[in-house]
Amino acid sequence: MRVLVIGSGPTGIGAACRLVEHGHEDWLLVDAAARPGGLASSVVDQAGFTWDLGGHVLFSHYRWFDRLMTRALGDAWVEHEREAWVWVRGRWVPYPFQNNLWRLPEPDVAAAVKGLELAAAAPPSAPPADFRDWLMGSFGPGLCDLFMLPYNRKVWAYDPSRLGVGWMGERVATVDLARVKRNIEQRRDDVGWGPNATFRFPLHGGTGAIWRSLFAGLPCDRAELGRTVVRIDTGSRAVRFADGATERYDRLITSMPLDRLLRLLDDRPDLTPLADRFVHSSSHIIGIGLDGAVPDDLRTRCWMYFPEGDTPFYRATVFSNYSPNNVARPGEQWSLMAEVSESPDKPVAADAVVGDTIRGFRNARMLGPDSRIVSRWHARLEHGYPTPWLGRETVLDEALSGLEEVGIYSRGRFGAWKYEVSNQDHSALQGVEAVDRILIGAPETTVHGRMDVEPPDLAPAGTR
Ligand SMILES: Cc1cc2nc3c(=O)[nH]c(=O)nc-3n(C[C@H](O)[C@H](O)[C@H](O)COP(=O)(O)OP(=O)(O)OC[C@H]3O[C@@H](n4cnc5c(N)ncnc54)[C@H](O)[C@@H]3O)c2cc1C
Repeated sequence: MRVLVIGSGPTGIGAACRLVEHGHEDWLLVDAAARPGGLASSVVDQAGFTWDLGGHVLFSHYRWFDRLMTRALGDAWVEHEREAWVWVRGRWVPYPFQNNLWRLPEPDVAAAVKGLELAAAAPPSAPPADFRDWLMGSFGPGLCDLFMLPYNRKVWAYDPSRLGVGWMGERVATVDLARVKRNIEQRRDDVGWGPNATFRFPLHGGTGAIWRSLFAGLPCDRAELGRTVVRIDTGSRAVRFADGATERYDRLITSMPLDRLLRLLDDRPDLTPLADRFVHSSSHIIGIGLDGAVPDDLRTRCWMYFPEGDTPFYRATVFSNYSPNNVARPGEQWSLMAEVSESPDKPVAADAVVGDTIRGFRNARMLGPDSRIVSRWHARLEHGYPTPWLGRETVLDEALSGLEEVGIYSRGRFGAWKYEVSNQDHSALQGVEAVDRILIGAPETTVHGRMDVEPPDLAPAGTR
């Protein structure tokens, strides 16, 4: 059973680590990139600042993943309690927004509560047609106008009416009206919600350090960088590389974007045309490195959301708060990272986005006249967010099941194209579960949206 793994991001490395755990020997992992980690890698810029490709925070649904993280970095982690904020109406409101309305101007509070009461009094009689419909039905017009619609347009780069509803689960906090009203009455901040209330971050090297370390621990004759797959022949079960070499497989686990994979297939006129139906958005990641101490009001913050038009970014992170070593001179510098989404519906001028971001930071009073910028860093990720577009399930099912029939398991953030299971822990487990399915016939769960099943324990290699 020759298993070929394409991609050295969390999915591919999860799969490779599991193949090692099984004691399976006939496998090879390849990646086109010069460094491992995929979207979860990190970069050091010319001024010595470390940047992730978007503010990555690590949380886990799986004990298996916790053990993997300990294997990667031992105890070289910084533990954080989430402190997230929303910049709206020229002020900061703690996240989750809907639980902290008392911080808003009185007319906004009244409109939001009225909308919530409306939504509670008239629960929709039919299932929501799309994500916009769901937002309106759950939060009412007040909160939707203020935050839900503009924020979701900004983050997804598509109108929420183009998105389906099957993906949400624990991603979007729904409303407890009594709690909302109590918080308003008591003028109380209410910040505990969701799976990432606490998280950890590598002490050195950014998020990429995790995957670099795990990649370095793989058998070096079975993990190769700089190898770009350009063609896949599903009949003879062989892939061709850019340098002309070929590699045979019995089973292929791939985490390259699924639309690209479909276009690489030889002679599959039934599957390749599906590629045009996939919807994604791109991400611009902008890093601003500064001399001096982090301003007092940002000292304990993790990330912030920006629904309004006075900033081009939907989210920003005080990246130097994640680890003191994310700057070149710890203690003497600090850093901000912003994320700007792009799609055909929401074009972005790449040459203006850094300047626009700095202006946005000034508008939100995160940078002032005395801020000393010493580094400007920018990266554009073509595949940033796997959009859960309306109608996704039918296209995805057809593509994924058609591929499985010929021994190809497309998994991970853009391999399986399921935003709801596209973080690092989900991706790694999708790799693990694909291996278990191939080698021992165990059912996969994460790729089907379940995160409550641990992979089976394996006897240590050599004892079976
Ligand atoms: C802006 C942003 C913010 C994020 N924030 C978080 C967060 O806070 N927490 C979290 O846990 N996760 C976060 N993520 C998600 C995290 O980055 C992903 O879970 C993870 O990187 C997906 O892993 P993967 O292995 O599925 O795919 P990728 O990381 O995309 O890896 C795919 C690999 O395939 C390789 N490849 C592609 N085509 C070919 C080819 N033709 N031949 C050979 N190799 C190829 C690529 O080079 C790449 O290395 C974020 C992602 C983004 C973009």
